[in-house]
Amino acid sequence: MTTETAKPYFSHRACYVNFAEHLQNAWNVNMFYPGAPNRWSLEDWRRFFEMIKAFGFNCFEYWLPPTLYDRPALAGGDIYGEFAANMRQVNDLAHELGLKTKFISPPNTIGPRWFFACPHTPEDMELIRAIWSHWTTELAGTDIMGIFPGDPGGCNRNGCTHETFVDLALELAEIAKRNSPTSRIEVGTWGTPFTGWGSDMWPVPGWDGSWEQLIDERHRTPEMPVHIWNGKLARAHAAMDYFLRRLPAFPEDTMVAINLGFSPDGDATMGGDGRAFARAIAEIRPITTWDYSLSEGELVTYPHWRLPRMAARRREERSAAPYIGGMSYTMTPRLNLLTMYAAGQLFVNPDADPDALAREFAARVFGPEHAILGELFEAFEVVQGWGHYPRRQWSREALYEKYGEIIERLEAADMSNCTLPLCVEPEAYRQDLLWFARRFHEMAGPAPDRERIRREYWDKSLHIYDVIPMSADERAEMSATRFAQILAVERLHEDVI
Ligand SMILES: [Zn+2]
Repeated sequence: MTTETAKPYFSHRACYVNFAEHLQNAWNVNMFYPGAPNRWSLEDWRRFFEMIKAFGFNCFEYWLPPTLYDRPALAGGDIYGEFAANMRQVNDLAHELGLKTKFISPPNTIGPRWFFACPHTPEDMELIRAIWSHWTTELAGTDIMGIFPGDPGGCNRNGCTHETFVDLALELAEIAKRNSPTSRIEVGTWGTPFTGWGSDMWPVPGWDGSWEQLIDERHRTPEMPVHIWNGKLARAHAAMDYFLRRLPAFPEDTMVAINLGFSPDGDATMGGDGRAFARAIAEIRPITTWDYSLSEGELVTYPHWRLPRMAARRREERSAAPYIGGMSYTMTPRLNLLTMYAAGQLFVNPDADPDALAREFAARVFGPEHAILGELFEAFEVVQGWGHYPRRQWSREALYEKYGEIIERLEAADMSNCTLPLCVEPEAYRQDLLWFARRFHEMAGPAPDRERIRREYWDKSLHIYDVIPMSADERAEMSATRFAQILAVERLHEDVI
């Protein structure tokens, strides 16, 4: 493997698991719902860390979700105290295995209902300070503490703008450094930039800071179709100019996460081109990318295959600015193993050939005679969603044939010869891939039973929401509906013709 032979090109290589309340599923870890499924033991964490380390990562990253970022956390105990104790163990384990740890958190998104606290309201600001101080103390020793603008998060009440976020980040960086002097700060610029702050968020007359009022459809206009991601070019310039002026005041070892472009996909379609700002920031503080949808989206969970795009992005970053690295995101750490393998390897060597990586992974996991599975899995990347830019288009007939071939090969694979350390039993991984291949095969075929598939997907992926509260954005419901509609749009189109 490349990791054993060459010095990694990027020094910061984070594997980011987003286990927030709205992204729970069978392949994610449940960190704060006792009695519900998908809890991981310390041994599960060990297997996961050994896997990502073998894949080429050197940092484990997670989101400190709003459910925990709440007033009751201040009293300790309950799920808050349990989470803190668990994360300290996980932190120690990561360090023992030679991995760094990192959390990110939007500082003003409070509680499971996603209340957006306003830094310009004294009592809200007191709450932000108290909760941030609580967690940076509880999780002291975490190598990197990320201050993240939002999504969800941000404010445009009481005169809050992108400048409010920068000023807030400066104060929170001081608090974190006081509570955990060895931790580095990372300031996220995520979005257009600093998504959710000031004019990036649509105006809500008389807004009380609640998620429900914010996303009320009546605020939708042709100019602002979504509640955030409305920052224009002039605002992006103003935001970055202000940030550049304040940046020298941040602790000297502060890192800045900035993408090549200011859209949710790192493109220059919203907010514009990030490259000149990345270069300017790099002269003051080290820069990383935080390219969220590069590896997978957020709604439907399935075995992703975005390898060529990931490779191209790493090469573009290398060419554009002196990045020290970035992160690869997943909400399915027990399913998207090929993606994690390729992501880790591409941080180590951006010149790696994505197709060769896919075949190498399949050969090591399913046996050399099934190396071709690595490229066959590209046929899964047909789900319309966040960050979906497929390399090729397929006919339904071609897909039907590919899924059939995947099924045949997976059924024949002998997993006892798997030579990669995986975070799950290789046999469980094979069974999960077979489950997806069979449903995709049916949905590419002549008469899929979509209502049955919707129910099966719910039971397979989202069963946890039968026993935990639905998230504020009700994403799980949407996910099941969308899964059952895979390849349905094209079908409709064919029917019309
Ligand atoms: Zn405000």
